[in-house]
Amino acid sequence: MAKLDLDEMLAQIASEIAKITYRGRVADYIPPLADVSLDKFGMAVCTADGTCARTGDAEEGFSIQSVSKIFALTLALQHDAAEIWQRVGREPSGTPFNSIVQLESEHGIPRNPFINAGAIVIADILTARYGAKGVQAKLLALVRDLSGRDVTGEAPVSINEATARAEKSSGHRNVALAQYMRVFGNIRHDVEETLDAYFHQCALTMSCTQLARAGRYLMMEGVNPVSRHVIATAAHNRLILALMMMCGHYDASGNFAIKVGLPGKSGVGGGILAIAPRIASVAVWSPGLCAAGNSLLGTYALERLVQMTGWTVFS
Ligand code: GLN
Repeated sequence: MAKLDLDEMLAQIASEIAKITYRGRVADYIPPLADVSLDKFGMAVCTADGTCARTGDAEEGFSIQSVSKIFALTLALQHDAAEIWQRVGREPSGTPFNSIVQLESEHGIPRNPFINAGAIVIADILTARYGAKGVQAKLLALVRDLSGRDVTGEAPVSINEATARAEKSSGHRNVALAQYMRVFGNIRHDVEETLDAYFHQCALTMSCTQLARAGRYLMMEGVNPVSRHVIATAAHNRLILALMMMCGHYDASGNFAIKVGLPGKSGVGGGILAIAPRIASVAVWSPGLCAAGNSLLGTYALERLVQMTGWTVFS
């Protein structure tokens, strides 16, 4: 698709979004998220030909929150692939992102790596290998390498310490999930260190442009198109995309699959990364959430983009 067409489509979507009055509700469990304006909207689309189109607040950094679960899983798959699937399932949960209920009957094994419980097990695996500070460094290095720096004056991807601290001081449910899984022997490293790694990954700050660039390996069967490095094997990449489709939006994943029809992963900061395999990596940000904790207008923007481009994987 020509970049000009994409620019026009994004402008059209942004103008539609600007007219919508009900924008959902920002996450209010920590000030760094509660204080973000509902009016923010950004979108960036990187296509396989190497170009990127963007609109609105696409250069502004936001808290990627659970979108980071993709990168943490990618990192864990590089060295600990066999262990992951003994400790985390690969099925949709049908429950909210922070739910604890299935852990009792399923013996401390979370349904998938994208609900909080599953992501905390991934953080535990990574922390055992790299240490809590090492996980932060590894994730930052991965995401910085993937997102590159081609916008003049762009701030590098960073971890927002104030957000990480706020996650920690309000993260009682995540502490409960970790402690409960520990009872079943599914948190094996020091709980505090594992949670520290998890809270810091939630606090990764990126712009839509950076996030769309970082997602390009997912559209290219696991290969970073710039460095040509294999970030995920083709089989692992397919697995990540399948999980994004089934579990990337928690108990609203079915709705996202029907409306948008692309593998996608949301975060409570209002960001979504969606992948059209071999075609595009798309990041969108609108901080207002629906009841399931997914970006309301971000989902709408992706739905419109797919209507305009025909990029759904189901056609
Ligand atoms: N920091 C949030 C939490 O751990 C992330 C959840 C999300 O983005 N869905 O609850």
